[in-house]
Amino acid sequence: MGDDKNADLADTLAEVGRRVGQALTDAFERIRPALDALADAASRPEVRAVIERTEKALRHMPCFCYCARTHPEDVGICEVFGAVITGQHSLGPLGQVELPMCAPCAAARAASEFSGKAARKSPGPSGPEA
Ligand SMILES: [Zn+2]
Ligand SMILES: [Zn+2]
Repeated sequence: MGDDKNADLADTLAEVGRRVGQALTDAFERIRPALDALADAASRPEVRAVIERTEKALRHMPCFCYCARTHPEDVGICEVFGAVITGQHSLGPLGQVELPMCAPCAAARAASEFSGKAARKSPGPSGPEA
């Protein structure tokens, strides 16, 4: 019978497939404790805290607000390394740029800008307001 060879081949392939599958399962079973330990460690509160702190530290951007100039009354509110948003900065003739800024500064700038505009309704003779 010529079918014997094909049957043998099928058996061999099946055997190889079974062994590969078993090998993969074995390999997985062997590394599973490590994976479990890793997942376990990552879910522990103290480890999570470290991860979160690292993420936060990496995300921290310095505040580019010129506090003394933009909101001199509230210089102390600045979260120097807590820039969370970008704000418009005037670079004079260079125009406006977006730079990171902390939330308190952004609020203080908005407030002082508003009160400043409200205080002087007519532009003074010194300095053009472009
Ligand atoms: Zn500021
Ligand atoms: Zn600030």
